[in-house]
Amino acid sequence: MGVGDELRSQYLEVQGMVIKTENGRVLRSFTFKEEDQTQEVRVVERKALLETLAKQLPVDSISYSSKLSKIEKNENGETLLQLANGTQISSKVVIGCDGVRSSVAKWMGFSEPKYVGYCSFRGLANYPDGQPYESLVNYIYGRGIRAAYIPVSPTKVYWFVCFNSPVPGPKITDPFVLKKQTKELIKNWPLEFRNVIDATPEDTIIRTPVADRWSWPGLSPSASSGGVVLVGDAWHPMTPNIGQGGCCALEDVVVLVQKLAPALNAGPTFIEDALRSYRNERWTRVFSMTVRANVTCAVLHLENPVACAIRDHVLVPKLIRLGPMLEYTNFEFDPLLQISP
Ligand SMILES: Cc1cc2nc3c(=O)[nH]c(=O)nc-3n(C[C@H](O)[C@H](O)[C@H](O)COP(=O)(O)OP(=O)(O)OC[C@H]3O[C@@H](n4cnc5c(N)ncnc54)[C@H](O)[C@@H]3O)c2cc1C
Repeated sequence: MGVGDELRSQYLEVQGMVIKTENGRVLRSFTFKEEDQTQEVRVVERKALLETLAKQLPVDSISYSSKLSKIEKNENGETLLQLANGTQISSKVVIGCDGVRSSVAKWMGFSEPKYVGYCSFRGLANYPDGQPYESLVNYIYGRGIRAAYIPVSPTKVYWFVCFNSPVPGPKITDPFVLKKQTKELIKNWPLEFRNVIDATPEDTIIRTPVADRWSWPGLSPSASSGGVVLVGDAWHPMTPNIGQGGCCALEDVVVLVQKLAPALNAGPTFIEDALRSYRNERWTRVFSMTVRANVTCAVLHLENPVACAIRDHVLVPKLIRLGPMLEYTNFEFDPLLQISP
């Protein structure tokens, strides 16, 4: 069974969306096919996706719990990675995919991502006997707060709550405090959302201050140089408002593999050309996604009561057409060639 077949057994196809206010009034309800016949919305648990991808690799090709503590250039032109456990790895090519606080990006001269004024709680509710929900995105818009819950498997329901906060706030790791704070934020909301939080094991809840970084050609550091290249959030952290950060990271990988694989044994010049070509091809898409996600936040996180009323009575129920809006999620690519281990 190939990776595609395995993933097909892991994801759920979501049929539509219901958007409500904090007091449970339905603003809009639709199926994705009604909005655009070509749209398919699929949800997959991150763990299931990562395990499925990892299974395709030869055994022992991934070293887990390998924290990068230092990166530097070798005299021979390779890049030397120093891990926290003392291991050193010298490599012709380094792909920095270490997320929003990437050490590799920092080493390449990128600034810290900028906090955008809101934080998120995320969690995964567990229903061992089967979750009771239809395959819909259940969205709730409030004042300076928004949230959603979405079934991701027959037994699990993913949810998030994003809320305005002038400062990122302290890092909280106590899972009971995280759950308490989430419940406090939505204590007056309809029971259905509160039930989902109640069904969530504390250890699946995380709190993230939301940040992004816009990379300008000529002004920002280059996403590839000297055999080191950035992928995903390490290069283009974006806000979660259009649900595309992880998707863009996967797209990056597909393009990078297509460029890099044929160049790997052809010498350093070919490798540099491949990395440059990857970065140039991807920049337009990831930049426009980052900006679009940031701007969308302005509507989603409104606090002013008049502006919220316009959003809830006019914009969401009458004006927004989701089909054209979702066109940006389309990404065409040639199938990757299977390489035998
Ligand atoms: C509230 C919220 C909702 C979101 N919803 C969606 C959505 O619906 N759809 C979507 O596509 N995206 C969504 N995203 C975005 C998505 O989570 C990210 O864009 C995605 O995880 C980026 O993948 P990545 O592999 O680049 O980074 P990550 O997933 O952050 O992975 C980075 C990895 O690097 C490791 N690492 C970090 N530092 C080091 C180090 N020094 N040494 C070794 N390893 C290290 C980390 O442990 C981690 O395993 C959402 C984000 C948020 C905050």
